[in-house]
Amino acid sequence: MSVQNGDEWAPRKNIIIIGSGWAGSTLETSLDETKYSLTVISPETTTPCTPLLASAACGLYDFNIVETPIRHTIKKIKFVKARVESIGFKAKSVKCIPCFDDLSVKDFTLDYDIVVIAPGSTNHTFNTPRVSEHALFLRNARDAMKIASRIQDCFEKASIPGLTDTQKRCLLHFVIVGAGPTGVEVSSELSDLFSTSYASLYPHLKPYVSIAIHEDYAMSSFTKRNRVEGDCLHTKEMGRINAGLVICATGNKSTDLEDSLPVKKTPRNPRILTDSFLRVYSPDSELLDGVYAIGDAADVENACLPTTAEVACQKAKYLAKALNVAVKEEFQYQQAAIVACLGQNDGVVSGKTDYSGAQAWIAWRSKNFLWTRTWRQKVLIVVGWVLNLVTGRAIAQFAPR
Ligand SMILES: Cc1cc2nc3c(=O)[nH]c(=O)nc-3n(C[C@H](O)[C@H](O)[C@H](O)COP(=O)(O)OP(=O)(O)OC[C@H]3O[C@@H](n4cnc5c(N)ncnc54)[C@H](O)[C@@H]3O)c2cc1C
Repeated sequence: MSVQNGDEWAPRKNIIIIGSGWAGSTLETSLDETKYSLTVISPETTTPCTPLLASAACGLYDFNIVETPIRHTIKKIKFVKARVESIGFKAKSVKCIPCFDDLSVKDFTLDYDIVVIAPGSTNHTFNTPRVSEHALFLRNARDAMKIASRIQDCFEKASIPGLTDTQKRCLLHFVIVGAGPTGVEVSSELSDLFSTSYASLYPHLKPYVSIAIHEDYAMSSFTKRNRVEGDCLHTKEMGRINAGLVICATGNKSTDLEDSLPVKKTPRNPRILTDSFLRVYSPDSELLDGVYAIGDAADVENACLPTTAEVACQKAKYLAKALNVAVKEEFQYQQAAIVACLGQNDGVVSGKTDYSGAQAWIAWRSKNFLWTRTWRQKVLIVVGWVLNLVTGRAIAQFAPR
């Protein structure tokens, strides 16, 4: 297919976007489809609305609200449910593995004119033994469901007759490893959940419930003696800590794809290094033709930007504008307000102006609303708030085991 581009008829260029997270989905919705043929490749058919996950895990929102489908009717994009295994920068093609084991096609290759690398990041476990099997993480709605289900199991187990006080205390001890924004938000939501809905449903267990946050440094200083088991956490500093549930919010590390790509990376906590036009360098510092990187997976030279949805969206919008209308300005991050919930109608806002208290909590709730992408989600968010006020949190949501 061809489109009129200025005075000339030019073929539509093929853009492949790797990843359907904040960066990939924002780019896909902002690119001009009359100029580009868009293909998104990702193992996930949805984009998780990460700022809402902690609230969903604690019954404030329905799990459906916190994922936005990548396929939609607004734009004609191609979506391929697959994992990109490698990129041939010379051949301008990506090699993919379908996310289905029962297909005769085991891998396939797609050609691109432009490729945008946005595979995000993954959970950093600091190679702590058994943490991946026993602790829970929070990256998407599936994780939020698992947390909700495990919390309920802990309360039900602790209600079985014959348990000692110590056993109840252990089952109802909730440990969050990582005191960054996610760790703090999860613990605030847990605290709200336990002091409201769970307090009225399980009044007999109220004295046994406790929440502890373990700082990131404790995790990063883990040695062979430190590990997570089914019902406990071993740390070098504090020895064995019995817990009903351990949630790991210990930050990000690069994905397998990012690790395997022959491109220039940032020195520490490696991320793909880009210039200020978000273009990717080869290892010998040559710009690669038609290759861009955005989101958590990449950082701009000399910028040291945080791994946040705010940065991912700003980069995606900049790149879409640059490709749509060929703007020549460099990317510049505009500092946005950082909002976090501290529980019990308290919050904190920083970044632009700093304040805390009820006003900050309202700012956090409003930002939740703004983060959602569809009208359906926005309406359901407000319904969630009203139901929360009237009937309390939805703690009996169906969650897979
Ligand atoms: C619980 C939580 C709360 C958060 N709250 C906030 C907040 O309040 N404000 C804020 O600004 N930020 C927040 N963040 C951070 C924010 O979510 C991330 O910075 C953001 O998701 C990064 O977007 P991304 O598109 O780069 O990566 P992601 O959103 O992680 O998406 C990456 C995508 O790439 C796909 N992918 C991975 N490997 C491959 C491959 N090989 N091939 C194809 N696809 C692949 C993944 O499946 C995924 O779809 C939060 C994060 C978490 C976990």
